[in-house]
Formats: sequence, C-alpha cells, structure tokens
Amino acid sequence: MPMIFDTHAHYTAAAFDEDRDVLLSSLPARGVGLVLDCGTDLDSSLASLALAERYPFLYTAAGIHPESLIEEDASTRTRFAGDWRAEMAAIRPLYGHPKVVAVGECGLDYHWEIPREEQLALFEAEIRLALELDLPIIVHDREAHADTYALLRRYRPKGVVHCYSGSAEDVRWLTAQGLYIGFGGVTTFKNARKVLQAAAAVPEDKLLIETDAPYMAPVPFRGKRNDSSLLCHVADTLAALRGVSADQLLDQTMANGRALFGISE
Ligand SMILES: [Zn+2]
Repeated sequence: MPMIFDTHAHYTAAAFDEDRDVLLSSLPARGVGLVLDCGTDLDSSLASLALAERYPFLYTAAGIHPESLIEEDASTRTRFAGDWRAEMAAIRPLYGHPKVVAVGECGLDYHWEIPREEQLALFEAEIRLALELDLPIIVHDREAHADTYALLRRYRPKGVVHCYSGSAEDVRWLTAQGLYIGFGGVTTFKNARKVLQAAAAVPEDKLLIETDAPYMAPVPFRGKRNDSSLLCHVADTLAALRGVSADQLLDQTMANGRALFGISE
C-alpha cells in the first residue's frame, strides 16, 4: 500500500505536548510511512532526535531557523544569547547520528523583523556546513526569493525548497540544479492558483509533500492543528493537478524523499 512521506514537520512543537506519543504511535496505521522532523534551534533538534530514536519511521533535520534569532524562547537566545556560531558548534555533533539526515530548517525570512545581515550570514554558514558534510538542506524562504536564490545559485547545495511560494519559472532552474520542491496544505487553499502552477511545473522526480505540522493544515482542516496523516488531502490535490493517481503520487514522493535523504527501504 502506498504510504505518505511527510518531509517537513515539527513534532516537538508545544501544540503536540498533550498527546505527542499517542499521535505519533497512530501515524503508521493511518498511512504515514516516514516523517522528517525539522529542528529550528539546538533544543528542538535534540528533542527531535529523541523522537527519532524512539520512532523508527521518524528522522531528524538539525539546524537553526532564521526566526530563532529573534524568538524569545529559542535556545539561540536562551542558551546562546544570539551567538548562532556557538549554537551551530553545539549542534554539529548531531550530524554524526544515523537518524540526522539533513541540515535545517534554515533559510531567510523577510516577513518578520529579523536583522538581514545576521540571517544571511547564518543561512550561508548552514549551506556551507551542508556542503562540507554532504547533507541536503531544508530551505525556508519567506518573502526572500531573490536573496535565497542567489545563495542557492552560488553554492548549489542539494536539498529541498520547502513550502514553495515562488514562480513556475523559478521551479525550472531550481530543479534543473538538482533541488527538490516541497508542497503542503497551501495547495488546497482558495487562491492557490500560483502555487498550483508551480507544482505542475515540478519534474516528477523532484516533487515532495510536507505538512509543516502543526501549521498549514489542508482544507477541510484549515486553521486546525496539522499532522502527517492529513497529507492525503494534499496528495489528492496534487495528483488531480498532475493527472496521476493519488497512489502514484504517494509512491513517487516516497521514492523522491528516500533518494534525497538517503533513507533506504
Ligand atoms: Zn518548518
């Protein structure tokens, strides 16, 4: 039976504190084969790895999200007083763990008031680290296409542009360069025309699906807490768009995710 590979989730988020283990334990029976859980600072990367050690289907991406530079309760501030270089050094040993398969979530966020020089330097450092370790990166690009793309063009890392919000035109060179493109609940929203055009332009071997749980729940659950089992709605939407069956879409995105993150059968 085709299974879901949710390539972007945050199961260490407080939204799951009440029932995290009940929910995670239930996922395989609800069609979820694999989950990549993304850290956003040292603390969440460690917490994610603890989940990965407990749940065979869950893998971890370890890194520092640009929002952690300004978030009061991120370990970037509480433990490192904003010194992200020191935090990166503390995260580094995690990449030796077999269940840590990517660097991230990292990238640029121009929606929030985050000092630009600082987030550019952080993102560049995480790209360079990924190249050095030969790991894929999980790219967050919010209202920052030009600067994000400039760094991706310059360094050509492997990885995924998650929750893609760019154009169909940019999909073509990003995927030609080897990058994967991730889509989630936004594809099911009203006014999804632009994101659907972009999703239609992705070659079949570069397409990934993702929740960004607990955020971005698809219609008909929009506004509620998201989890990996709800990706069936995204799979249905993308399958219809691309003229394939939902099963084919799940099989293809499973194979794509395994290839990118080096997870064998
Ligand atoms: Zn995320």
